[in-house]
Amino acid sequence: MRLNPRPWFSPLYIADRGVRLALSLAVAVAIPVGVLFVFQYRALASLESTSAVVLRQLSTDTVDNAARTIESVLKEPHIKVLLALPQARVEPLDPGFVAPVLADGLQASPFVEAFYVWTRPAAGDPLSGRWLTYDAQSARLQTTVAADRFRDEPTTRRALLGKLQQLASLKRAIVAFSDTIDGRPHYVQAQLRWSSPARDELTSLVAFAVDAERLRSEFLPALLATRLQSLQQPSGFPPLRLALEDGDGRLVVSGHGPGDTFLDTRSFPLVFFDKELLEFAAPYEARRETWQLRTTYGANDILHVVSASTQPQKMLLGLVGVLMSIGVFLVIRAAAREVRLAELKSNFVASVSHDLKTPLALIQLFAETLELGRVRNPDRAHEYYRIINLEARKLTRLIENILDFSRMEAGLRPYTRQPEDIGAIVDRVVDMMAPQFTQGKFSVQVHRDDPLPAVMADVLAVERAVENLLTNALKYSGDAKQIDIAVVAADQQVQVRISDHGIGIPRQELRRIFRKFYRVQQELGGGPQGTGLGLAIVEHTMRGHGGSVTVDSTPGVGSQFTLHFPIDGTLTDEDVRNETDSGDRRRTADAAGPA
Ligand code: ADP
Repeated sequence: MRLNPRPWFSPLYIADRGVRLALSLAVAVAIPVGVLFVFQYRALASLESTSAVVLRQLSTDTVDNAARTIESVLKEPHIKVLLALPQARVEPLDPGFVAPVLADGLQASPFVEAFYVWTRPAAGDPLSGRWLTYDAQSARLQTTVAADRFRDEPTTRRALLGKLQQLASLKRAIVAFSDTIDGRPHYVQAQLRWSSPARDELTSLVAFAVDAERLRSEFLPALLATRLQSLQQPSGFPPLRLALEDGDGRLVVSGHGPGDTFLDTRSFPLVFFDKELLEFAAPYEARRETWQLRTTYGANDILHVVSASTQPQKMLLGLVGVLMSIGVFLVIRAAAREVRLAELKSNFVASVSHDLKTPLALIQLFAETLELGRVRNPDRAHEYYRIINLEARKLTRLIENILDFSRMEAGLRPYTRQPEDIGAIVDRVVDMMAPQFTQGKFSVQVHRDDPLPAVMADVLAVERAVENLLTNALKYSGDAKQIDIAVVAADQQVQVRISDHGIGIPRQELRRIFRKFYRVQQELGGGPQGTGLGLAIVEHTMRGHGGSVTVDSTPGVGSQFTLHFPIDGTLTDEDVRNETDSGDRRRTADAAGPA
C-alpha cells in the first residue's frame, strides 16, 4: 500500500492535488481582495491629497477675505462720512445735510462712538467755533431741527480738539492717533480742511472716535464670527477658525485655543482709512499698530488633519484585511484537511483491499494444497494448518477493527465493564498471538506485578487494544526482535507498557498517529501494511475506560506505548455515552512531544 498522509503544511504536500486546489482557492480569493485593497488604499491616499488642497485653499481664501473685510469695514467711516462731507457743506455747517450723513455713518459703522465737527469761528454762524458732537444719543433725539442734534462736547474732550489743531501744523489731510477719553483708550481720526492749497489755516475738521476696547472685544470678534458662519466648510474635518492678534501680539480673537497650529497669516495696519493713504496721514512717523489675522484647524497641520480624517477608514481597511486573511487561512486549512482526509480514506480502501487479498490468497493456496492431499508429511501439514489459522486470525482482526471502528464512529460501541485483572487479559492476548511471535522469531518478555488491583474493563475491547499495540510492535520492529510487556500498578493506575526496539516514530508524528486513517510516511512508500485505524481504536477504548494512551518513542531506538487504566475509574453512564461518541473529535492523546 502506498502511504501518503503528509502534514498539510509540509513542502512535499504542496505537490498534492488537494493543496493545489486549496492554494488556487486562496489565490482566487486573495488576488481580487488584494486588488480591491490596493485600489481602496489609493483612493484614500488621493482623497487625502484632494482634501489637503481643499483645506489649504479654504484657509488662504478665508484669511484673505477676512483681512480685506476688516480693512474695508474700518475705513468706511472715513470714506462714507469724512470724505462725503464737502467743505462747502461744513463751512458754514449745513446741519440738514451733515446730520443724516453722520447718522448713516453711525449706523453703518457701529464701532464709531461719536463724530465731531469743528469750523473756525465765523460771524453770524452760531455753530462755528464749537466742538460739536454727533453720537448715538444725537441720532435718537426726536427733533426735526437738524442743528439741534449736535451738542457741545464737555470740557474734558475739548482737549482732543486742541490736539487735533496742534497736529494741523503738520499740514496733512488726515490726522490719526490714539488717546484716552474718559479714562478709556480711543482711536481718533480727523479729516482737515484748509483755507488754501498751501494749508496755511485750518478752517474746519470732521473727526470720529472709536472705543478701542469695544472694537477689540465686541466688534471685531462679532465680525469674524459672522464671516466664519457664512463659510461653507467641508464636513469630516475640524472647522477652520480665525485668530486675531493685536500690535502687541495679544490675542483679540482666539482660534481653537492654546496650542493651535497656524496656517496662513495676513498682516494689516489698524487704521481707519485706506492704507495707501498712510503717508498722507499725521503723525506719519508714529508707531502704527500692525495686526495679524491667522487661520487654524486646531493643534494639527493640514497633513495631520487630513490623515486623521481617513484614520477610521484605514483602520477599518486593516481590520477587514486581517479578517479576510484569517478567512483565507481557514479556508485553506479546511480544504487541505478535507482533501487530506479524502486521501487517507482512499489509501485506507486500497490498504484494506490489499490486507484482505493477501491472507485470503495464502489461505486459499494452503487449503487447496491440503485438500489435494499432496502434503504427506504430518509436520508440514500441521505447519500449513497453522498458517491458515494465522492468516484467518489476521483477517478476523482486520474485519473486527473495521467493524469496531465504524461502531465507534457512529457512537454505537458501548463498553460493558466489570472488575477485571488486566494482567490476565494481557496474558491471554500474548498466548493468542504466540504463533505470530514465533513465526517472526520474536522474543517476548512479560513482567506483571502480582497481585494487581482489579480495574473496571470491557474484556473484548481491552484485548483488542492490547492486540493492536502488540501487532504494531511486531510490524514496526524491523530487525530488533524483542518486545517487552509490563503490567504494573502505579499512580492509582494499572499501566500496560508495550515496548519494542524498532523503527520508532518521529517526534512531530507522535500526536498524529492517533488520528483515524493516519499512517506515518514510510521511506520510499514501502514498509508494513496497515489501515491507520489501530491506534484510533486504542485511544477510543482507553477514553471509554476513563483512561488514556501515551507514547514515548525515539526514531531508530524504539517505541513504548502505555495504556493507563484508572484503578477507581468508575465512569458514570453519561461519561460512557460521551466517550463512545465519535472518537475523532476529542483526543486524550497526551502523547509526548508537540503535534
Ligand atoms: P497501522 O499500523 O494500521 O498503520 P495504527 O493506527 O496502528 O495503524 O498506527 C498508526 C501509525 O503509527 C502506523 O502507521 C505507524 O507508522 C505508527 N506506529 C504505530 N505503532 C508503532 C510502533 N510500535 N513503532 C513505530 N511506529 C508505529
